[in-house]
Amino acid sequence: MTKTYTRDYWNSALDGLKLEGRHFIGGEHRTAASGETFTRIRPMDGKPGAELARGTTVDIDAAVASARAAFESGVWRKKEPLEKKKIMLRWAELIRAHGEELAMLETLDVGKPVLASLNVDVRLCADGIQYYGEMIDKLYDEIAPTGPNARALVRKVPLGVIGAITPWNYPMIIDAWKLGPAIAAGNSVVLKPAEQSSLSAIRLASLAVEAGLPAGVLNVVTGYGEEAGKPLALHMDVDMIAFTGSTEVGKLIMGYAAQSNVKRVALELGGKSPLVVFEDADLDAAASAVAWGCFYNSGETCHASTRLLVQRSVQDKLIAKIEALTKSDIALAHPFEPSAQIGALIEEAHMQKVLRMIAVGEKEGARRAFGAEQVLSETGGYYISPGVFVDMTNDMSLARQEIFGPVLAAIPFDTEEEALRLANDTIYGLAGAVFTKDMDRAHRFSEEIHAGTVWINTYDMSNFATPFGGFKQSGFGRDRSVHAIDKYCDYKTIWQQFG
Ligand code: NAP
Repeated sequence: MTKTYTRDYWNSALDGLKLEGRHFIGGEHRTAASGETFTRIRPMDGKPGAELARGTTVDIDAAVASARAAFESGVWRKKEPLEKKKIMLRWAELIRAHGEELAMLETLDVGKPVLASLNVDVRLCADGIQYYGEMIDKLYDEIAPTGPNARALVRKVPLGVIGAITPWNYPMIIDAWKLGPAIAAGNSVVLKPAEQSSLSAIRLASLAVEAGLPAGVLNVVTGYGEEAGKPLALHMDVDMIAFTGSTEVGKLIMGYAAQSNVKRVALELGGKSPLVVFEDADLDAAASAVAWGCFYNSGETCHASTRLLVQRSVQDKLIAKIEALTKSDIALAHPFEPSAQIGALIEEAHMQKVLRMIAVGEKEGARRAFGAEQVLSETGGYYISPGVFVDMTNDMSLARQEIFGPVLAAIPFDTEEEALRLANDTIYGLAGAVFTKDMDRAHRFSEEIHAGTVWINTYDMSNFATPFGGFKQSGFGRDRSVHAIDKYCDYKTIWQQFG
């Protein structure tokens, strides 16, 4: 029987919810060495939420030492692959079994609808851990073709200690994208979640130990980027930083790697993805893809379709369809409301930044078609309605900067050449899409858009089997798929001479 989730249901679940805000190091919760904490303000109503340990260099040192000890002992990397697989599958099952609790933690932290947290974020997190768990006993090494008198084994070996630094927009999903392949490959991890979204990370780590992951293999240090993220990225005993976040901080991470031990870095960064609609396209399908692609998760999505490039002859028709669909299908409401499709923005400062960007855009001449206004302020939370600006040019700030709010920039074009030039006229290269019934053009376009993922007549289809990541200043390295394992491994060649 399917459960009915009401606002009252979540309110009473909140009453009994434990908000664990301490670090997780060496298999146990620990307060910050300094004893300091910080308060997370809930985006849904502006009320104080969890108290979190304010991690600094000392806590990072302890977590790295714990991760290093677990790695060197071989307690995880040398375990039978079948055993490791069973532990990761148990972990995935525990995530599912604690789905409602994790969904609540995620929603309290980030303000997205709790049903989205449950049905999308928790589900994809568990699926990700399962995907990499299942891979563990299916990975083979190689023998190089060196001739009959010698044998050279080409082994794929784990790197050691991975520092994972993650953002707040899809915390559990992105944590799974890092933890799944890094741990499946035999590494130990120190995870520094975004200061806004630590609760689910702490709980994921304690569930991992409950599933049988040896203490020290997965550690979580909470805190601010400058105080906890930076010492992790500068640490001399960390072998790699797997980072997802802004391009600005991604550049700092590269610098920290260079200043310290030349550790590897993998960077999943920002985006300003173009969605190109030609006049022959199915405009209903395009409108739905644009609206959901840009407004889902309140626009706080790295690959959101924030730049609509639309052939001039159909601009008005398409915008009218987007407006109708947004108003009928994409309900903005308190995250506990079952009807909510989108909820609050991450914090007040971010909402104010989005509102300022909108104001600057209007000064530059962007014309508001609808929405993009602060709403539900009586809740105390941070909400902006989905909105569209039209008749824009690609040099306006709303078309160039990552807004990370529910704001679409519509830019008209006349020819295919112009559309392609505009699509690629961005520092980013995370994703893109083309809508047309002309399949030759669709394939030409998908080849020429410089982006890690391109969709044809759809948007945001994804699957663990497909790599995800960017070109240009959207970063390098890929999350998801079998290829993600590679970045957490190195090759070791072992020679043996015969006779
Ligand atoms: P952010 O400000 O770059 O922060 C990301 C992480 O880095 C957080 O844990 C942050 O900690 C930490 N950090 C900040 N300054 C640091 C420093 N000096 N040294 C080390 N770590 C530091 O990004 P965000 O605002 O959380 O997330 C939004 C961004 O992520 C957007 O640009 C979005 O496009 C990108 N993103 C990309 C992908 C992808 O797959 N390409 C996916 C999701 C999001 P604090 O939170 O404490 O500052």
